[in-house]
Amino acid sequence: MAEKIGFIGLGIMGKPMVRNLLKAGYSVTVYNRSVAPIKELEAEGALAASSPRQVAERTEIIITMLPDSPDVEKVLTGQDCVLEGVRRGSLIIDMSTISPVVSRKLAEVVVESGSAMLDAPVSGGDKGAIAGTLSIMVGGEKEDFERALPVLEAMGSTITYCGPAGAGQTVKACNQVVVALTIEAVSEALVLGSKAGVAPEIILKVLGGGLAQNRVMDLRGPNMIRHRFEPGFKVKLHHKDLGIVLDTAREYGVNLPITGRVAQMFSTLLENGKGELDHSALLQVIEDLSQHSLVQTVPEKV
Ligand code: NAD
Repeated sequence: MAEKIGFIGLGIMGKPMVRNLLKAGYSVTVYNRSVAPIKELEAEGALAASSPRQVAERTEIIITMLPDSPDVEKVLTGQDCVLEGVRRGSLIIDMSTISPVVSRKLAEVVVESGSAMLDAPVSGGDKGAIAGTLSIMVGGEKEDFERALPVLEAMGSTITYCGPAGAGQTVKACNQVVVALTIEAVSEALVLGSKAGVAPEIILKVLGGGLAQNRVMDLRGPNMIRHRFEPGFKVKLHHKDLGIVLDTAREYGVNLPITGRVAQMFSTLLENGKGELDHSALLQVIEDLSQHSLVQTVPEKV
């Protein structure tokens, strides 16, 4: 019989991931800090729990999809936590993006308790979560990866074993460098071309047909040039991720000069109260620096 799944953290990503597990036929017990998404998923066939501890008591594979390292630490080791309820032999899969250092530390604590842990952060955004096509990068013991694979396959289409505990989070940090710097590069190109008198749609079209083509531009470009910044992936989360990247770089003595600069641009957005916008709002920092807004040059209806 398929293993019973617990799922904690029902936000932009967690909720559609649970829907895909339900669709694949799994029994899923859910918990979230706010109650509304629990009720919503209960109406769709999930079982409700009243604490992380209760989730762990009732299930065999416990998935977390929470904002940041302190949230995962709290849910796994705080009051009424997963480790208070977890059964021996259960498997905890943290799919949040958190620090590789914290992830390795938590894996040690979990293993000491007689259970197993994988770090399995994702890329592919809310669209990938809804479609069940996430890219999932996994760190931990290979046998635990094999056990988790059918469950992960219900949520993702590219699932890669990356190495021991923390390796999934390390690869995710690499991913976040490339995505942040790509948004920044696309923003620079759009502001340069637009202020020099070329329509932004033309810039998107031409760049999309050559070596400059990239998925950030394909997926976010049309919304960027109209200043439509509903998340998606929030500025505050990408800011958090670049903090993880820079801490990891410091730990290993790696120099990331442009990532440092882009991290400061995300700080500027946060300072200006734009933390809840989509990360492609980074465009606005470049616009402000250049005293030029793309929306003056893009008709609302194209
Ligand atoms: P979100 O803020 O939409 O959702 C987080 C959920 O966790 C919320 O429902 C919140 O109520 C819940 N939560 C927070 N603390 C809790 C606690 N102590 N106990 C129980 N529930 C708690 O965030 P999201 O966009 O779903 O992102 C989740 C994780 O996935 C983050 O680490 C993020 O970096 C990563 N991620 C997000 C995306 C994306 O496009 N949104 C893409 C890839 C990875």
